[in-house]
Amino acid sequence: MSQTKVRVRFAPSPTGPLHIGGVRTALYNYLFARKNGGKLILRIEDTDSSRFVPGAEEYIIESFKWLGITFDEGVGIGGDYGPYRQSERRDIYKKYVKQLLDEGKAYIAFDTPEELEAQRVKIENFQYDASTRNMMRNSLTLPQDEVERLIAEGTQYVVRFKIEPGREIHVNDIIRGDVSINSSILDDKVLFKSADQLPTYHLANIVDDHLMEISHVIRGEEWLPSAPLHILLYEAFGWADSMPRFAHLPLLLKPVGNGKLSKRDGDKLGFPVFPLEWHDPKSDQISSGYREQGYLPHAVVNFLALLGWNPGNDQEIMSMDELIEHFDLEKCSKSGARFDYQKGIWFNHQYLLMQDDKDWVPDFDKILRQNNIISTAEKEAKVVELMKTKVVEYTDNDGNKKKRNISFVSDLWPLTKFFFVAPEYNTEDKFVCKNWKEDSAADMQKLYDLLSGLEDFSVESQKNLVDSWVEKTGKRPWNAWRVALVGTGQGPDMYELSAFLGKEETLNRIKSAIKVLGECIQ
Ligand code: GLU
Repeated sequence: MSQTKVRVRFAPSPTGPLHIGGVRTALYNYLFARKNGGKLILRIEDTDSSRFVPGAEEYIIESFKWLGITFDEGVGIGGDYGPYRQSERRDIYKKYVKQLLDEGKAYIAFDTPEELEAQRVKIENFQYDASTRNMMRNSLTLPQDEVERLIAEGTQYVVRFKIEPGREIHVNDIIRGDVSINSSILDDKVLFKSADQLPTYHLANIVDDHLMEISHVIRGEEWLPSAPLHILLYEAFGWADSMPRFAHLPLLLKPVGNGKLSKRDGDKLGFPVFPLEWHDPKSDQISSGYREQGYLPHAVVNFLALLGWNPGNDQEIMSMDELIEHFDLEKCSKSGARFDYQKGIWFNHQYLLMQDDKDWVPDFDKILRQNNIISTAEKEAKVVELMKTKVVEYTDNDGNKKKRNISFVSDLWPLTKFFFVAPEYNTEDKFVCKNWKEDSAADMQKLYDLLSGLEDFSVESQKNLVDSWVEKTGKRPWNAWRVALVGTGQGPDMYELSAFLGKEETLNRIKSAIKVLGECIQ
């Protein structure tokens, strides 16, 4: 019997900040759920108390809020299948551990860490399984009264899953097809520990997927090796008929070289591997996040969506609705997806340009204030309009100067300072003196006089006046005018800039340039 309702889950362990690969997994679950009119559940798998990190759960929830990935049930939302935090489900798991013990599908083992270590030293590639379990101290080898006595005395034990060797297990993976392995290579996994009365990941994961009626398990490739064990657990519980379908997503690979993407790659090449900035509570270390680096949430979503899947054509820019419409688990690739972070920057550029000029203002205003500039939203939006398609210089990881389109709001500032602050003229600057010629001072004086008489300082009004002067005299005032107002060769159309600065500021800058730039022609 196959499940009819689509119910999928994202099940992070709160052991630190959510890695960008985890975000991609959650996104694919989200797209799949929305595409199929199903439900997406957020389950927190916090049964490994030794790896619990405070703040991680809140971080995960905040990340998805920022990204616009919404859940239908789960921690922080509620729902009919809760609680959704595994640490609050202890009693549920105990019942299922007991079921396996009662049915002889699991057993109790008393071996201490030292005893296990001794076996590892004695036997090469020691594994606790059908070939070794009869040499160990467990409920299969000890008389029942001794087992009971040890438990009554408070001896610590674990419950292990009794795996029958020699069975071919088939994982019928939606992305990878038939992956089969022999049960002989599996060990008798620990399902429960008496020490903390908690189940391990494997048991809790299977019990919850069953009880929460999960129809599809979509997760990273690193979990593929656990799938055969999970299938055996479903069978042991008698749930084989309602087993979810598996889909193991391709690995995210390093931008260059071999292997999987790591935090170190991000540190080395200068890109975040976490959605939000993360403050490590133990080390106090701060790791950068996409949000704080100035990425737009949907640019990150769009970028991640295409790491391991594509719609089958070359469409790259897709809204959430389009992603949902086109998404197809079966079209995910098996092979790893290279994490091309430059492509992420390109997406951000595209999404910045798609938004309204006024949407840049809050972030731009923050940067201006950091530079002690107080302006108005209207003026700031105008600067965005005039400058957003410009090119910015940046230094790459090898220290080389390179150029790229404006891709972050913060890219604007170095290109737009002159809108807000009068330039200091640098007569050593090549562009400056090349464009301040012998007759520049006289030309600028003439321009000064013309503009002084202008009442309406709009683009059109200046244009009428200056264009007719240019036409009559054949003068080419543009470069000197640019040097006077900007101090370099950058900037927008001169009329636009003058109109932005206003009459007084424009005239002041022309006057200072005449005074200072005389040096250029000595
Ligand atoms: N808690 C596991 C994790 O941290 C869940 C793996 C799964 O989806 O089964 O990713």
